Amino acid sequence: MRTIGHFINGKAVEGTSGRFGDIYNPSTGEVQAKVAFATKAEMRHAVEVAKKAFVEWRAVNPQRRARVMFAFKALVEKHMDELAHMLSSEHGKVLADSRGDVQRGLEVIEFACGIPHLQKGEYTEGAGPSIDIYSMRQPLGVVAGITPFNFPAMIPMWMFGVAIACGNTFICKPSEKDPSVPMRLAELMMEAGAPAGVLQVVNGDKEAVDAILDDHDIQAVSFVGSSAIAQYVYARGTANGKRVQAMGGAKNHAIIMPDADLDQVTNELIGAGYGSAGERCMAISVAVPVGKKTADALVARLKPRVESLKVGVATDPDADYGPMVTAQHRDKVKAYIDQGVKEGARLVVDGRGFKLQGYENGYYLGGSLFDHVTPEMGTYQDEIFGPVLQIARAEDFDSALALPTNHQYGNGVAIFTRDGDAAREFASRVQVGMVGINVPIPVPLAYHTFGGWKRSAFGDVNQHGPEGVRFWTRVKTVTARWPKGGVRENASFVIPTMK
Ligand code: NAD
Repeated sequence: MRTIGHFINGKAVEGTSGRFGDIYNPSTGEVQAKVAFATKAEMRHAVEVAKKAFVEWRAVNPQRRARVMFAFKALVEKHMDELAHMLSSEHGKVLADSRGDVQRGLEVIEFACGIPHLQKGEYTEGAGPSIDIYSMRQPLGVVAGITPFNFPAMIPMWMFGVAIACGNTFICKPSEKDPSVPMRLAELMMEAGAPAGVLQVVNGDKEAVDAILDDHDIQAVSFVGSSAIAQYVYARGTANGKRVQAMGGAKNHAIIMPDADLDQVTNELIGAGYGSAGERCMAISVAVPVGKKTADALVARLKPRVESLKVGVATDPDADYGPMVTAQHRDKVKAYIDQGVKEGARLVVDGRGFKLQGYENGYYLGGSLFDHVTPEMGTYQDEIFGPVLQIARAEDFDSALALPTNHQYGNGVAIFTRDGDAAREFASRVQVGMVGINVPIPVPLAYHTFGGWKRSAFGDVNQHGPEGVRFWTRVKTVTARWPKGGVRENASFVIPTMK
């Protein structure tokens, strides 16, 4: 059986712990490889390597760092097909969606190519007599990223793209469910000209994560995953003096106003609700039609579309979505559907019985649709993370706005309407980090910044865009005086002010 180790000091190495996790092919249900779980000592070794590499990497001028990113971008494009197949075989998302996963990561690499401009500081000439002030953004040192299973290409690139371009050296601890793409990306970074130790991949489970959180040489940690773990990572990392950003789970609502184009909305909800089997942190999981007429018309349109969703193996070009990532996750989603029925929601379409002929051991689930979901239901409060769309009916605009605003999560939200006033008021008042207006998955592009509110993100600084540069650097401000003829003042015991 193929064994995946770690990528340390510029090359793939075997794990030494003797502990491994299974990597499945979700389309067939087979175990296709084993991934090594690192010990604390293996993590420490990677940190030592990264620390040495930092001394030289931070001194490389920003244009040269950008050139590595340009070369990496070209290599990822050249290997797009290979990466997409690798990704689909471990995650289960369909190939076109895997290409999208790689592409969205590459867009952050494109952004990082602009680092000479992005990392520039500020300068004030003549801030006082013979005094100039300037600021610079310096890299932090050894930094780390802990990533989830659902975007094994995009999320590592969100993190290491900006961090490395800023002059840091980076350790990635990918999801143990699909680590092959991050391992391959590390190889491609070396081929692109990044020195050994600048990007390393250390695989593992909680032991590896705790080793990152407790390591005194790791300066900053970026995490993306479920909220309970995000909160844990944030608490332990910050208690150890690190800078931490930790993105968590989501429950993204789509408000459908009575004036919306329901045919367009139906298309958007089907794609955003069921694409990637609903395993996206920006998936629409709750539709909120405003008024009974809108709700009835929407359910009538959605029902046949959900019933006719095409679920297939990840390599089937006609499939709308593929299997879920693991049998365990599929069973968890199924259990949520059982719970929804018990809680009294109306199950309009039931995907639990779906089987794909010839692939009976794959982790498939048909699309499900619930109507009459209400805020006190546990299935409304929790993130389901599967091909399940819930309809929570609202009487008017204010009660629709209250649903995402009062929810524990605040990642993304969308409103569908032709009314500019309603859209504007919604965007201003809703307590959610990313808002779509007639856009169902409002994932900001790389040069803007990604991040939710409430339990969808712990920490203050978002991913990528200008905030990404801020997260991966710290500011140093220099106040310099070069008076003609030298300094001749007597000692002064009051704080200097500008008169
Ligand atoms: P997860 O929390 O199970 O795992 C994320 C990472 O944490 C993995 O690397 C994993 O190895 C590690 N981990 C798991 N259990 C741990 C523990 N007990 N202690 C320490 N580390 C642990 O998440 P997942 O299932 O891989 O990903 C899906 C979740 O990620 C969903 O909740 C989804 O909404 C969220 N997500 C959020 C965003 C965002 O930007 N807000 C983006 C993508 C995914």
